[in-house]
Amino acid sequence: MLHNWTEGWTQNGMVQDRGTLICFSHLRWDFVFQRPQHLLTRAVHTHQVFYWEEPILTDGLPALSRRQTPEGVWVIQPLLPLEPDYAIDNARLRALLDGLLTETEGRPPILWFYTPSALAFAGHLHGAPTVYDCMDELSAFAMADPGLPLQERALLSRADVVFTGGASLHAAKRAMHANVHLFPSGVDTAHFAPARGILPEPADQVGIPHPRAGFFGVIDERIDLSLLAEVARARPDVQFVLIGPTAKIDEAALPQAPNLHWLGPKPYAALPAYAAHWQAGLMPFALNASTKFISPTKTPEYLAAGLPVVSTPITDVVAQYQAVEGVFIANGAPAFSVALDRALALPPDWATGVDRALAAMSWDGIWARMSALITPAPVYDVLIVGAGFAGAVLAERLAAGAGQRVLVVDRRPHIGGNAYDCQDAAGVLIHPYGPHIFHTNSARVFEYLSRFTSWRPYEHRVRAQVRTRVGTDEQLPVPINRTTVNRFFGVSLTEAEVAGFLAARAQPAQEVRTSADVVLGTVGPELYRAFFQGYTQKQWGLDPSELDRSVTARVPTRTSDDDRYFLDQYQAMPAEGYTQLFERMLDHPNITVRLETDFSSIDPASYDRLIYTGPVDAYFGYRYGPLPYRSLRFEHTTHAANIIQDVAVINYPDPAVAHTRVTEFKQLTGQAHPHTSLCTEYPAAEGDPYYPIPRPENAELYRKYQALADATSAVTFVGRLATYKYYNMDQVIAQALATYDRMTASTAGSQRSVAEAAD
Ligand code: FAD
Ligand code: UDP
Repeated sequence: MLHNWTEGWTQNGMVQDRGTLICFSHLRWDFVFQRPQHLLTRAVHTHQVFYWEEPILTDGLPALSRRQTPEGVWVIQPLLPLEPDYAIDNARLRALLDGLLTETEGRPPILWFYTPSALAFAGHLHGAPTVYDCMDELSAFAMADPGLPLQERALLSRADVVFTGGASLHAAKRAMHANVHLFPSGVDTAHFAPARGILPEPADQVGIPHPRAGFFGVIDERIDLSLLAEVARARPDVQFVLIGPTAKIDEAALPQAPNLHWLGPKPYAALPAYAAHWQAGLMPFALNASTKFISPTKTPEYLAAGLPVVSTPITDVVAQYQAVEGVFIANGAPAFSVALDRALALPPDWATGVDRALAAMSWDGIWARMSALITPAPVYDVLIVGAGFAGAVLAERLAAGAGQRVLVVDRRPHIGGNAYDCQDAAGVLIHPYGPHIFHTNSARVFEYLSRFTSWRPYEHRVRAQVRTRVGTDEQLPVPINRTTVNRFFGVSLTEAEVAGFLAARAQPAQEVRTSADVVLGTVGPELYRAFFQGYTQKQWGLDPSELDRSVTARVPTRTSDDDRYFLDQYQAMPAEGYTQLFERMLDHPNITVRLETDFSSIDPASYDRLIYTGPVDAYFGYRYGPLPYRSLRFEHTTHAANIIQDVAVINYPDPAVAHTRVTEFKQLTGQAHPHTSLCTEYPAAEGDPYYPIPRPENAELYRKYQALADATSAVTFVGRLATYKYYNMDQVIAQALATYDRMTASTAGSQRSVAEAAD
């Protein structure tokens, strides 16, 4: 079932059905927009993402502060009481974390670590999977916790997969874990590319003369401040603009000079506007333990912004960028100054050549590749689209018969498809999508359904409201039988005489192709016009001569007095209704049903196989144009009467009447109720697709879709809409059972055809 945590799973129009991802980080979300932010703002499209920051000490009780970023990431800040105590704090954090996770549901979360320290309170959780995204050698940083290497070893032993943010880190960690992947940081080129054009200059930079060399990033022990001071002293002709928060170093220690401009931290969104007015990007990193493994994200960001880069020889920068146009590596202030000159001397449009390299470094691509590595095995063996008979039978069979894990989705708010029934406002059981009468000759189908329902014996009877040849208005049996003929023509023929009477009127066609041929060839024009022509014209929007013969062949003429609509061996209604029957079919631990869920919102990675019971043309994006369907509008009314009609259904073939038939549900269901509810059907060209229209050109168009469906071997198309067949319920059930047989058949010999199963 869909989980909802403060609008969790379907927030911002995203369907986060790959479960929860909880990221433990030593960096505050708002510090700088870096690798975690790039990755997690992409993860949020498929996962519910929690970004768990380091605790904040307050004077209150332990609690979680939560807020959602505009991109949809939940930033979680644990609030702990002052008087920190390592052991107690971790117990509190663990309790807070467990509390948070009880609000999520379903599969275990993905645990995503930036800091191994988080294991101290998250170590009891089992990630699915556990990911260590190692983007720095944290233990080499200033003021690092001396316990970090040990904690990292513990994390490496727990992690299912390790990502490394640069080549040096990859080389260092590869020997420590069996599943380590190199993912140098990427670049959001679209974000920085506007800096190559004209952007309004931020006010605090306007007064600074040109040429300018700029830096954006965290200003901490990794920056070689003395190098910067020396280069600034040597190059009074160049202005040095430095953007970013200061961390772990004393701001007073920042060198000062007329051409050194410390502008402080700026939001990620503002960086292109600053960079647009620089002529070079700086990476004045110190060469020490803290920078041995770094792989600065700003390298490609400067390049994307159209800036040449001047960097000290950081191992990963040298390895990855030395050969890239516009990147200049220099060690020591004199060389740095020379490199700066070369960078500033580049022609204005030099940067176009680096775009190919940048294109391969998109964060989108990186996330897609990481995502493939962390995506757990599909949760469902089968996704079934549609909870009608086709979908429900296959769900039941695959779950109960083959032990498969099945997800059924339907975009409607109920199960049962068109066979769904429910009580109306008065409490009368109705069929909202028109009357559904069960009948079959298939013992297999009847026995199968009997596992889920008991039956109310019911034989369906229909009358048509017609003007007879003797001028009376009567309700006569349909299909046409001896009574119909005698009353319509004002005669009193025996059964044997009726046959001859009709044969004398019949107008047999040379070849029976159309629905008109069927009726005219059996009963002649009078009965054809009174019973079939108008009704068919209304129902299908077509003359019977334009419809396949199979349509009116559903209602064959008899010469006996039998006035049952169907002659099938099994005729009955589910004793407690169709919806109850569907509920029992779908009530299995291996079956999950999600209603009001469109197929398009389901992550393909969450299932192995697809069974599709919706319209086949919709599945293929109407590639060959829409298949024609006939629709209906249903008018449901309730009346203060026990019973209104003589039989369950009265047909109205008269073309002057807008509707085709009126059904009284209590006659089908046998419900005892002081009120009675009717359903009047108005055929319509537009609306839900109810009837595939049997005509040669439609069959031809369907064959093209069928060829596509046949070629799409990962998808099984079943049901009335998916196979574009004017099927009754029993035929759909038989088709679904035969499909199940085929899907689970171990030998070709055990396969059955749909036709075999239906009879
Ligand atoms: P449906 O019942 O149409 O189920 C398909 C389901 O797929 C729908 O619920 C739909 O919401 C869902 N779906 C489609 N696309 C998507 C998507 N993209 N994402 C999620 N869900 C999707 N048969 C009889 O035997 N006796 C009768 O008396 C009878 N009377 C009928 C009267 C009417 C007015 C109609 C229209 C049909 C009647 N039928 C009758 C036929 C019967 O309704 C069908 O044979 C049967 O319901 C077909 O089942 P199905 O599973 O193939 O399709
Ligand atoms: N039909 C008709 N007059 C009737 C009954 C049926 O013309 O009184 C024709 C009409 O074309 C209809 C078709 O026979 O669509 C099949 O009827 P059925 O009752 O099987 O239709 P369904 O129940 O599927 O709507």
